[in-house]
Amino acid sequence: NGFVKLGLAKELLQAVADMGFTQPTAVQMATIPKAMQALDADPAAQKFTDLLVSSQTGSGKTAAFLLPVLHTLLKQQEAAERQERAEFERLSAEAIARGEAPPKKPKRKDPTSPRNFKAATPGALILCPTRELAQQVCADAIDLVRHCRGLRVANVVGGIPYQLQIAKLQNANLVVATPGRLLDLQRSMQIKLDQVQFLVVDEADRMLDLGFADDLTEVNQLTLQRQQTMMFSATFAPRIMQLATRVMREPQRVQI
Ligand code: AMP
Repeated sequence: NGFVKLGLAKELLQAVADMGFTQPTAVQMATIPKAMQALDADPAAQKFTDLLVSSQTGSGKTAAFLLPVLHTLLKQQEAAERQERAEFERLSAEAIARGEAPPKKPKRKDPTSPRNFKAATPGALILCPTRELAQQVCADAIDLVRHCRGLRVANVVGGIPYQLQIAKLQNANLVVATPGRLLDLQRSMQIKLDQVQFLVVDEADRMLDLGFADDLTEVNQLTLQRQQTMMFSATFAPRIMQLATRVMREPQRVQI
């Protein structure tokens, strides 16, 4: 399988194989290694590159941004779990050395119980211009995380009852959204964007056509501590370049 040499996690390679992808498309080949550049180096010193990618629908652009983002989220989650386990073992050993009972593992709280309500704090945010595209991207993300225990994907789009969306949103790691509904949920404090590390703007040209420039500015402001931004667009027209300059730091261009 041609995806192996891209260095993706085995859970993702398995999903890609399940989906019948055998070779990365041109945009996947060009984008994935650049997006993951800093990985597997010292995790504390990770630096990610911002990318401005020219892409057409049908080119495989969705997996080109989902795979590196999911890979990084997965690796971060594994590292956090390792650390948690090590900390628990250290505390247990210390307690036993003092002749005390070892600590109990904390119980997981039921996130669907209203008593345990917490605003969602996704690590990755994908913005799409339309509800249909967001739903398609979300469906692709769900296919790709099928072997990733612990990674959750949620969709935030208009036209779906709030309660339904909020329940699924609570422990999502990756959110695929249209800007309007996303900002609604942000204003009503159902979602907090300050832990977003990865921001993807899909079909940026259509985003501007549909009048989402101000919403993009607002999301940019709400996620200023993010580590990486990727913008996908059919063209690099001047208005796209202006947007790129506003929301990215020295983006590398990927032109297919
Ligand atoms: P997209 O451009 O992301 O909308 O993808 C277009 C279609 O190509 C979708 O149906 C994908 O499932 C499919 N696809 C994406 N990447 C690959 C690949 N590497 N091999 C075969 N099909 C793919």
